[in-house]
Amino acid sequence: MLKNQIHITVDVEEWFHSNWFDVSECIKKHYDGIYPESDVLTTTEKLVEMFNNYNARATFFVLGETAEKYPEIMEILTANDHEIASHGWFHNKKYVDIIDFKNDILRFKEEIYQDVNGFRFPNFGYSTEKFKFLIKNGFKYDSSIVPCLKIPGWYGNSKAPIIPYDLNLDGGMAIKEFPMTVLPYLRLPGAGGWFLRNAGYHWTKNVVKFSLKRTGYGMIYIHPWEISDSNPCIKDIQFHVFRNTGQKTFENLERLIKTFSEYNFSTISDSLSLNSGNAK
Ligand SMILES: [Zn+2]
Repeated sequence: MLKNQIHITVDVEEWFHSNWFDVSECIKKHYDGIYPESDVLTTTEKLVEMFNNYNARATFFVLGETAEKYPEIMEILTANDHEIASHGWFHNKKYVDIIDFKNDILRFKEEIYQDVNGFRFPNFGYSTEKFKFLIKNGFKYDSSIVPCLKIPGWYGNSKAPIIPYDLNLDGGMAIKEFPMTVLPYLRLPGAGGWFLRNAGYHWTKNVVKFSLKRTGYGMIYIHPWEISDSNPCIKDIQFHVFRNTGQKTFENLERLIKTFSEYNFSTISDSLSLNSGNAK
């Protein structure tokens, strides 16, 4: 495992994949039940361009449903040599059963990207059985565990390691886990996304800074819709869900990359020294 690395991770999904509000109700009420187009393609492209400007290579956890709608996303990631990993197929089935999960994984490999190493569970819906299925299907790592204090209804596992580790399952099986970066000791979350927008640049910078100082490991995460200026303004969606999305978050993300420019921004597969899984 390489030291002094920061992994930028992007969950490539659309604004309506958020689990903060009742999406199907919202789509029914405001869009006549038809999921609208989004700017996920242009926002993903904007992220790629910015990362390229800083020679930062990132890992993109792509949602199958989104890649199917916007196949150019895969072309952009491949052409720019970033890593393509999987975020499953559907996002809004919060309690996906194991059969659906297995079908989703196989469908992603068959229709979107065969040579994939990494997985991130939508809505943190992992289980031992699901991890085993990933291993059997060639996945080399997962990046879904947030080793912070438990936030009820959201996530958190304060007993989990804060640096990459072997997640041992029964039967001698193991998968590498690349956890989200949290504030060491206090175990508070904040390395991107919702926190970058709602708690601000300095909070995220400090979470990453103290983690790097303590462990040499840092992971930042973001969603393309978080840098979009055209998220819906619907009054039954709570204020914090889209707060500070757009140019402000784009600039804060860029500022983070500049702040940590003495570190290496590599893909997770690079850190694991895996050759496949990187877009070539
Ligand atoms: Zn997601």
